[in-house]
This record gives sequence, C-alpha cells and structure tokens, in this order.
Amino acid sequence: MDKLTKSPRLNYLLRQMDIWSFYDVINHLPRRYENFNLTNPNDIKDKERIVIYGQVISYPKQARGRRVISVAFDFMSVDKKYYHVIAYNRGYLSSTIELNEYYTLVGTFNKLKNEISLINLQKGKIEKENTLRPIYSLPKDYPNHLFYGLVKRSLEAVKGKVFSLVPFCYRKKYKLVEKETALNYAHSPRSFEDIRQSLRYLKYEEALMFSLKNQLIKEENKSLAKIKKEPIDLELCKPWLDSLPFKLTDDQKQASEEIINDMNQSSLMYRMLQGDVGSGKTLVSFIALYANHLRGDQGALMAPTDSLARQHFENAKKAFEGTKLKIALLVGSTPKHEKDLIYDDLRDGYIDIVIGTHALFSKGVEYSSLGLVVIDEQHRFGVNQRIALASKGEHADILSMSATPIPRSLALTLYGDLDISTLTTFPSKKKDIRTSIVESEDEKIFEYVDKSLKDNRQVYIVAPLIEYREDHRYSVEQLFARYVLKYGNKVGLLHGKMSANEKNEALEKFYNNETPILVTTQVIEVGIDVPRANLMVIYDATNFGLASLHQLRGRIGRDGTTAYCLLTHDEDEESERLNILVDSFDGFKIAEEDMKMRGPGELAGIKQSGIPNFAFLNIVNDFKIFLVARDDATYILKNKDDKSFKYIIERASKEIKEEDKIKG
Ligand code: ADP
Ligand code: MG
Repeated sequence: MDKLTKSPRLNYLLRQMDIWSFYDVINHLPRRYENFNLTNPNDIKDKERIVIYGQVISYPKQARGRRVISVAFDFMSVDKKYYHVIAYNRGYLSSTIELNEYYTLVGTFNKLKNEISLINLQKGKIEKENTLRPIYSLPKDYPNHLFYGLVKRSLEAVKGKVFSLVPFCYRKKYKLVEKETALNYAHSPRSFEDIRQSLRYLKYEEALMFSLKNQLIKEENKSLAKIKKEPIDLELCKPWLDSLPFKLTDDQKQASEEIINDMNQSSLMYRMLQGDVGSGKTLVSFIALYANHLRGDQGALMAPTDSLARQHFENAKKAFEGTKLKIALLVGSTPKHEKDLIYDDLRDGYIDIVIGTHALFSKGVEYSSLGLVVIDEQHRFGVNQRIALASKGEHADILSMSATPIPRSLALTLYGDLDISTLTTFPSKKKDIRTSIVESEDEKIFEYVDKSLKDNRQVYIVAPLIEYREDHRYSVEQLFARYVLKYGNKVGLLHGKMSANEKNEALEKFYNNETPILVTTQVIEVGIDVPRANLMVIYDATNFGLASLHQLRGRIGRDGTTAYCLLTHDEDEESERLNILVDSFDGFKIAEEDMKMRGPGELAGIKQSGIPNFAFLNIVNDFKIFLVARDDATYILKNKDDKSFKYIIERASKEIKEEDKIKG
C-alpha cells in the first residue's frame, strides 16, 4: 500500500497509532474542537478564554524559564487594542510567528498584566464556517496541523467510496446523515450541529455493528446442539460437598443452582460468574465441574497464566481428595513427554478434569467427551475465542468467571444476553483491609514494612510502570533498587517483561517466603494467592483506576487477619478519588464510581479485554443507543432475506472472521 505521508517519521508514528490506510485516518476523529469564533470585545473577561484577530507588532522573543523556553510578543487587535502575548513552553514558535503578520489568537486573558497566555493561533482571518478547528489525539511529536492535512487528503482520496453500513430504513427512521457526510462533518464542521449529526450516525453504526456481531456469534453458538444427558441437581453433589471443611454461602448455593439448571437445558450454557476477589468463585466452578462429572463428561478449567493454573490445580486436588476424580495439569511449560501422556489420557477419557492455560485448547488436544469449560478471568480472552472453545468440545457448556465487578447496566450492554450469576457476599472469613493515603516519601511506609516482616508476613510493593518515564514518578525498577538497598535479598521482582521462567521463579520464591517482599506491577492483579501477605504499598496510586486498585488490594488479608493497603500520592488534585477506597470495600460501588469518573474504558480488566475499544461510543453515556441498536440488530437478523440488510450482515460476518484470525 502507498505510504500515507512522505515523512518516514510520521509514517512510523501513524503505524504506532495503528493507522494504515486512508480509512483509518478518517476514522480517527478529533478529540475536541478549538473554537476560533472571535470574542465580542465587550465579552472579554479576566482569566477567561478569548479569541482575537490582529497583527503581531513586535519581534517574537524567546524567554528562558527555569526549564522551559517561552515566546513573547506584542499584538494589536483590529480594534486597536494592545496586548502582550506569551506562549509558555513553546520556544519553537519564535521561528514560525512572523512580525507584522495577521493572526487569529486563542488564549487566556490576564487583565492585570494585560497579557494573553497563548493556547492556539492560526494565520489570517478565519471564515465564519471554519471556526471550529479539530484537535486530534496524537503522539507528542505529530503536529496537529500536519495530521489535519492528512485527514483532508484522505477524505479526498476516499470520496464517493465510503458506504453507509446502516441500512436505509434505519437512516430514515432516525434521520441520520450518510456515513461519508458524517465523516466530513466530524473533521470539518461548520457548526456544533454538524458535529452532533456526525456523531449520531457514527455512534449508531458502531452500536449496530457491535450488536449484530454479538448476535451472530450467539446464533452460531446456539446452533451447536448438546447431547441429551440425564438431568443433574445440586443434591447429587451433597455427599461430596459435605466432605469439604466449610458450608456454601447463600450466594454460592444460588449461583451453583443457576449453573446446574443451565447445564440441564438443551442449549449450551453461556454464563458468567462474577464476584469480587475472595468471594469464592473457584469453589462454585468446582461444583459445576463435579456436576459435569456426574453426568459423565470431562471438564476443563482454563486460567490466564501458568501460575494461576497451578494454584487452581493445587486447590482442586485438595477439594476432590475424597473422590475418585482424576485431575491433570496442562500448561505451556509441561514437559513434552508428560504432555503426550495427558493428551492420550484426555482422548481416552481417563482424565476427568484438566486444568491449565490455553494449552488446553492447542492443536493436538482432543477430548473424549468435553462437557464443560470454565474460563477464569474471562475478559482476558477474546469474545470470539469462546466459539473456538465451544467448537473444540462441540457441545461444551461454558462458564466464565470474572473478578472485575462490571456494573449491571454495562454488563447488559456488553454481553447482551449472556447470563450472569453474581457473588456479593464473602465466605466466613471477613476481610479486614485498612486503606490509607500517604506521601510516597513518608518514612511510615518502612515502619509498616518492618512490622510485616517482623510478624513473618509478606509485602507487595506496586508501581504503575516497569521502567522510568518522565511523567511518572515511580517505576518497578526504581523501587526495586530502593527496597533492595534497605532489605537486601528479601526483595523479589516480578513484571511483564520478564521471561516465563524468571516469572515462575520469582513467584515461587515469593510463595515460599524466600523473598517476603515482592516489587511488581499490576500483573499481580490476576489471582496470586499468598494468604500470609498483609501489606501492600501502591505507589502513584492515581495512575490506576479505582477498580484496579480495589482488585489489587484484594490480594492481601486473604487469611482474614487485618491487612494494610497504603496508597501513595503526592499531588492534591486527584487524591479525592482515592478516598472512595478508604471508605468503601464494595467492589460494585467502586466500579460504578470509577466508571462515572473516568469512563468505562479505564475499568480494570476492560482494557486488556476482548471487549472492543469503542471508537465513537461511550459505554455509559450512550447506553440508550446500545439498547436501540440491539433491538434493530435482532430485527435485521430475523429478516435476513431483506436485500437492504445483506450488506451489513456480510460485513459483520466478515469482521467476526477477521477478529477470530487475529486472536487465534
Ligand atoms: P475467588 O476466586 O472468588 O477470588 P476463591 O474461590 O479463591 O475466591 O475463595 C477465596 C477463599 O475463600 C479460598 O481460600 C476458599 O477456599 C475460601 N472459601 C470459598 N468458599 C468458602 C466458603 N463457603 N466458606 C469458607 N471459605 C470459603
Ligand atoms: Mg479466583
């Protein structure tokens, strides 16, 4: 394909942004618009934004601040008023702003100094219909005007070739513009109304495609018939359940019943079990696996990492000790000869439950009768991968588990009619985690660490990044150095850039308390279980979402004794957000707050998830569009023969296949 720009550097940046074609360019919508509408001279107010047109009347001079270079010049507006203009931090402007030239300036007015702090400027006078200038989210060194130029060229290049996916009847019903018009409006709006119309189309199309794809996948899944079995019920599990050292919570009991009820249906189960860390999901999944065994089928439990799979395996061995169930562990690092034995036993039906990572579904693995697949931390697997799993088992029920408490409204829109069971109460051992906010250099932190070590407890030190970066204060590498300096070989290191072997070794040493302190990133969010851990220090806590922080602290206090979570934070602006964590331990409430404040894209787990990153839609604010689009998608699929629906259905099917390819 042709290069999008002549500059190799800009092309590189475009690829970083995952922009490969003219279509990708025009789908990259402005983040906001700079309004160049001139301010009425009577409306010029102190400390407020103003837009004026006039002439540069002094030579732009650089002024060196402590660390930055600014540019200053004098300016005369067309109504003959004089202003001093300063462009903080943008020394480079001195070479582009020309003396005596006319400009339209946007800035903040300081009455006392009669000064304008420059926000933006454009050469010349701006026509009324061009006053809304798009501002794009771009990498630091990609100038906005160059990208805008590329947008203009791209719009020209695809002219007449952009098809509206939304069928005509719905464009008419909702009075939507054509897609090409929508994109033109978005990039060069004449008014805010243009922008509104543009988004109305783009959002609806996105929601409609999303629903359509979901429903197509669901149809495909439903078409996989199940082999009729004797119905099972929870009572049949009772003898085994009674052998366990504890009683089910009411929530666990209800969830188990819902699951078993699904398993008895003739269509495939497609259920999500959600509950906070420590709410006892694992046991519920064991019940499902046991019930599945009673009906004579094999079960598989898939975890996102080796170490989690191992943990589940150990727990399963304990839970099924008194039974005759044969349980196996199959992960990427399982030696070849062992793997071959497991493959044989799975095919011959000698293994009842197999626990592992996606190695469970790699080539060469065959099951004699796979009836149930449990997927732990389901968001980390793509939506479509679910079909791949189901087809491996041909008729396997699917239960996914998630510790990310997704607010109900959101779950409904995202998962459509995926059934959900929720664990809201905790088993007997009530967690007691005391959270406080401290400054990062507070000596108190070390006192807490000392106390934990003295009590033979363990400690997590968490930072937002692995390596140092200018805009973040703390990195794992830096903190590792700091803690090693103080605690020597008691400190371990774990992060995503380490090899699988290094990671396993680090985890091993932490599990058996060789290194009671673990310096790490968010990787620990996913299910590490070290009951002895009673302290977690999270540096630069505002860099995490609330829901992530909540999940992170769920790693401590797992044995029911008092644990401490210290959130470090040094600037005031955002610390209020953290107070919710100090006050509340309700994962759903925290997720809801997090979503309100930062938007759903930032919710823990969702970023790494198979849930699409919506380009135009906001999952919270556009909830209604999702609902409307869902019904329309249902109608479209019910009327597949209608010619005007052919195009969008084909496109949706094609996109599903492409997504499968990428993930598989
Ligand atoms: P989750 O997977 O939801 O984070 P787990 O299933 O790991 O939670 O359960 C957390 C802990 O609670 C485990 O140590 C488990 O053995 C224990 N547990 C589970 N169910 C019960 C119960 N009904 N009563 C007492 N303890 C339980
Ligand atoms: Mg778990």
